[in-house]
Order: sequence, then C-alpha cells, then structure tokens
Amino acid sequence: MLLPLILIIGLWILLMRKMGGPAGGSGGPGGIFNIGKSKATLFDKGTRVNITFNDVAGLDEAKVEVMEIVDFLKNPKKYTSLGGKIPKGALLVGPPGTGKTLLAKAMAGEAQVPFFSMSGSDFVELFVGVGASRVRDLFKQAREKAPCIIFIDEIDAIGRARGKNVMMSNDERENTLNQLLVEMDGFGTDSGIIILAATNRPDVLDSALLRPGRFDRQISIDKPDLNGREHIFEVHLKPIKKSANLDIKKLASMTPGFAGADIANVCNEAALIAARKGKTEVEMDDFNDAIDRVIGGLEKKNKIISPEEKEIIAYHEAGHAICGWYRSMPIRS
Ligand code: ADP
Repeated sequence: MLLPLILIIGLWILLMRKMGGPAGGSGGPGGIFNIGKSKATLFDKGTRVNITFNDVAGLDEAKVEVMEIVDFLKNPKKYTSLGGKIPKGALLVGPPGTGKTLLAKAMAGEAQVPFFSMSGSDFVELFVGVGASRVRDLFKQAREKAPCIIFIDEIDAIGRARGKNVMMSNDERENTLNQLLVEMDGFGTDSGIIILAATNRPDVLDSALLRPGRFDRQISIDKPDLNGREHIFEVHLKPIKKSANLDIKKLASMTPGFAGADIANVCNEAALIAARKGKTEVEMDDFNDAIDRVIGGLEKKNKIISPEEKEIIAYHEAGHAICGWYRSMPIRS
C-alpha cells in the first residue's frame, strides 16, 4: 500500500520542482506562475545595443520615419501644440531579409527611450488565455516605463484576420489579437507609448489592426536597388579581409533582386570559400562562386547528365550569362 503512495508523492514533488523552476524575472524560466508574464526584452539606458543606424545601409526614408517616432516621444509638445495627434503605431512592411528587424534594433540602440522588443510568436503558448495575459502584462510594463517604444516582430503570428468561419476559428489567437486591439485603444495619444511592428504579410493582417488610430503609419521597406546593394555590400565587407581590386559596383550589379540578408550571406560564403582554398584575402572569384552558390545551391559534381541534356543546359545558361552581361554594362545612348 505504501509503494504507490510514495510514488505519487515523489512524482508530485518532481512536478512542483519543474513548475517552480528558478524564479526568473519576466520572460525567464519562471515556471507556471510566470506563464502569463510577457517575454519582452527591455532595452533601457543600462543595456547597450551595439547596432546603430550606420549598420543599416540604405533605407534612408525609413530611418527618417523611425527617428521621427522617437522625436514624437521626446518632444510631444512640438506636434500637439499645432493640434496634431501623435500616431499610436507604425508598421514596418517589406519582404523577408530586407532589414526590418535590423532597423528596429538600430532604433533601440539610438532612441534613448526604453524599448520593449518581442516577437509575435512569443505570445503564443499551449494554454488558452496566456497570449491575452501576456499582452496585458506587456502594456502594464510599458505604461510604467513610458515614454517608451514596443516592438513586435512578425506580428502576423497574432494579427491574422479573425476567421469568419466559426469552425475554423482559432480562439486563442483571436483572444490575443482582441486584447492587443483593446490595449491599443486603451492608451491615449498622450500616454507616451508607440508601437512598432514588423511583418512581411500585411495582406493577412486583420483590418481592425490597420485602421487609423492603431497602426496609423505603414513604413514600406523594399528590396534594395543598385545603390542600396552597394551600400549593403560596403557594410558587410567591412569585417572581411578583401583584395584591393574588389569591384563593389560590379558586385552590386551582379546581384539584382537580392535582399540585405542575401548580400550578408554572399559576403560570408565568399570568405568561407576563400578560406577553403587557403587564400589570405577574399578575391572577386570567391564572390562570383558565392553568388552562384546563393542563387543555385551547391555544386553537384557527381550528378549524371547525358550529353544532350548538357548541351541544352549550356544554351540555357549562356542566355542568362548574356542577359546578365548586358544588364551590368552601362546603357549607351
Ligand atoms: P527582416 O526584414 O526579415 O526582419 P532582418 O532585419 O532580420 O530582416 O535582416 C537579416 C540580416 O540581413 C541582418 O541581420 C543584416 O545582416 C542583413 N541586412 C538586411 N538589410 C540590411 C541593410 N539594409 N543593411 C545592412 N544589412 C542588412
């Protein structure tokens, strides 16, 4: 009779230990009692973020917009004295890898106001009601620290349009979204909290989230153009030991359609390729190989292709090469 009793008590103690965990601050492994606390990371005066606007190449208009948001918080009188209302939120919209998160991090580094950062998926948990409670907790913390900025990355994780079909609806996500909408309505424009969010799927967001009075502004961040790519290459080539005759303009013209993240990847790959060949500096050839690798994947040395297939592929690829060559040449009048 005693054995099952001991087993049950043992199991119970083990469970309690697991749940209790080391009581961390908000977001720490605080166990079951802290589950409703927000997991936001707070960047305040004490915490140093070593990313600045200099690390974000191009995106000049977006930088001006986000700096204006900081200015709203620091000098609200300047805007309200003329009868204007300070926006409550701004949405960074753009394809993946274009530097939305990087821009927000740089903003945390430069803003000198408390900056709460979390990702949309951080609200989601196994238990119902946790998302909404985390939203409440986040705003409670933010109100204590106001004026401050809240940044929610990948907001589409919670901000998806609420289902019209009752069978398909996801109650937990909808609760979280409803709570976010309520909180955004709840604070006045003078409360000194501005919400910044990033997404690459603005089309799936709930229209209630996008209406003026919530995310009033949309800051669009597009894939970089030729000049933008050149600047991004300059930023990412800084830590790389490169050969003197590296032509950055040429690199930028060889990478149409690349986002910032792809360019960072090319620079890293080139350095790895050069290291594999035992070189002491990274040369143009390594960059060519890296670009090929990023576009086309790994070289397949042992794939069996018939001679006819090879010929067809050669014609096809020669077409790409000719187009690429002419595109990178200056346009003659
Ligand atoms: P997302 O838009 O998906 O949030 P990220 O901000 O996470 O993209 O960008 C990923 C990486 O790409 C960054 O860490 C950075 O190295 C590089 N990157 C993207 N855009 C730029 C840019 N404009 N300038 C410099 N690096 C960039």
